[in-house]
Amino acid sequence: MRLADDLACTEFVELVTEYWEGALAERDRERFEEHLAFCDWCRIYLSQMQTTLRVSGRLYENDLDPETADHLLEVFRDWKQE
Ligand SMILES: [Zn+2]
Repeated sequence: MRLADDLACTEFVELVTEYWEGALAERDRERFEEHLAFCDWCRIYLSQMQTTLRVSGRLYENDLDPETADHLLEVFRDWKQE
């Protein structure tokens, strides 16, 4: 069951960097975390992204490398299609 104001996974992906930057409004952050609580895909995505960013040393940079972001989005899409 999905609530009307539920985040879609694509929205979640778009909000990840803002979430890390603390740039999300409180309401958006709550929706983000609610989505994370029930969506296995996004939990995997988030942990994968955190690992990648930690390895590349970019976790605490505000600007995510666009190539890295694109790559992760592709990986994410592949997972969704399985
Ligand atoms: Zn999701």
